Amino acid sequence: MAEFTMELNDEQKEVRDWLHGFAADVIRPAAAEWDEREETPWPVIQEAAKVGIYSLDFYAQQYFDPTGLGIPMAMEELFWGDAGIALSIVGTGLAAVGVLANGTEEQIGTWIPQMYGDASDVKVAAFCSSEPDAGSDVASLRTRAVYDEAKDEWVLNGTKTWATNGGIANVHVVVAAVDTELGSKGHASFIVPPGTPGLAQGQKFKKHGIRASHTAEVILDNVRIPGSCLLGGKEKLDERLARARERARTGGERVKNAAMATFEASRPAVGAMAVGTARAAYEVALDYAKTREQFGRPIIDNQGVAFQLADMRTQIDAARLLVWRASWMAINGKPFTAAEGSMSKLHASETAKQVTAQAIQILGGNGYTREYPVERMHRDAAIYTIFEGTSEIQRLVIARTLSGMPIR
Ligand SMILES: Cc1cc2nc3c(=O)[nH]c(=O)nc-3n(C[C@H](O)[C@H](O)[C@H](O)COP(=O)(O)OP(=O)(O)OC[C@H]3O[C@@H](n4cnc5c(N)ncnc54)[C@H](O)[C@@H]3O)c2cc1C
Repeated sequence: MAEFTMELNDEQKEVRDWLHGFAADVIRPAAAEWDEREETPWPVIQEAAKVGIYSLDFYAQQYFDPTGLGIPMAMEELFWGDAGIALSIVGTGLAAVGVLANGTEEQIGTWIPQMYGDASDVKVAAFCSSEPDAGSDVASLRTRAVYDEAKDEWVLNGTKTWATNGGIANVHVVVAAVDTELGSKGHASFIVPPGTPGLAQGQKFKKHGIRASHTAEVILDNVRIPGSCLLGGKEKLDERLARARERARTGGERVKNAAMATFEASRPAVGAMAVGTARAAYEVALDYAKTREQFGRPIIDNQGVAFQLADMRTQIDAARLLVWRASWMAINGKPFTAAEGSMSKLHASETAKQVTAQAIQILGGNGYTREYPVERMHRDAAIYTIFEGTSEIQRLVIARTLSGMPIR
């Protein structure tokens, strides 16, 4: 276990500064344009691929940082640059994590490279779990996967929604029910390979924020995929289903399914994204408050403004510490006995919403226009309290974990 320290080591500082440079020089200058265009910023993803930021290797290196701080540090810097573009760069990671968490070595080796492509031909991937009637209530998803034993193929049918990169992805990871009686225990994840007939993009959403990130419905109409595309393989699935059926029959202890475990582990990373957006808005507000003069003095000379900035920075630092704690616990195999992952996401995402709103206030009329970036940052920040589990769901998880009661 790494010794406790509040300081990044030299290697981490080097990576942080390199990422910050990319965020400042490449991402931030492109942010307003891609927000207006509401399109995937392929040239920026390509730049990220060229320098090695858009690759599995990079994320694996950060993930295996023994302090746990590699991923949160990377997320904070990239999202400091711009949330929409950064999500376009890291969105593939959610699908990759789905494969890493549940796939065999062969599946990892086959599919993850196809998710990223290479610098001359970048690709993206999508993780499709949410459905029109299964958002917070993931267990109720209706997409079905039926095994065609004669052909050793799975047949997928259903409609997914809110999929980041849905329809434009080279590889889609789809969560579907193989046994509807078992709720989330009867779910399995599947790879839909590039160009598979029957998978089509539905509506592309016009969003409030993170507009450079593509979000769309994915329609699955008799999508036939080889048996080898079931993540983890059939034998493992059959064993898991048998255990779940036995538990359902005997009322045995509930065990978290793989998808939920992945979400819990990824929540601090979403918290870190929120910290990045909040810090970006705070910095703009601090600079503005020092230079904007009213009544013959900089507006920061007024406690009414300065105290807001003090609160903003305090909340941001508190959020980062919660994110770092959860990330450190996760890499050191410490269970989230007080739902520390959810706590970090809850506090960081609420902080991002609040801090970006305060930043608009400090910039006055300018803050309300698209001439200044805080308006975009505020729109972007609203996503953090929604995706990967809303704030209400995080509170539910925390309250249930702390009380042991089935709070609704
Ligand atoms: C931009 C964007 C990108 C996304 N990317 C992906 C992706 O790549 N892949 C994917 O699978 N999904 C993705 N999602 C989906 C996202 O995870 C869901 O939107 C989220 O889980 C909430 O589900 P919902 O929108 O159906 O809201 P609902 O579940 O309908 O919730 C509506 C409101 O009710 C509240 N609520 C619901 N249940 C309870 C309860 N029990 N107690 C208290 N309050 C409750 C919620 O907190 C919320 O305020 C994305 C969403 C967005 C907006």
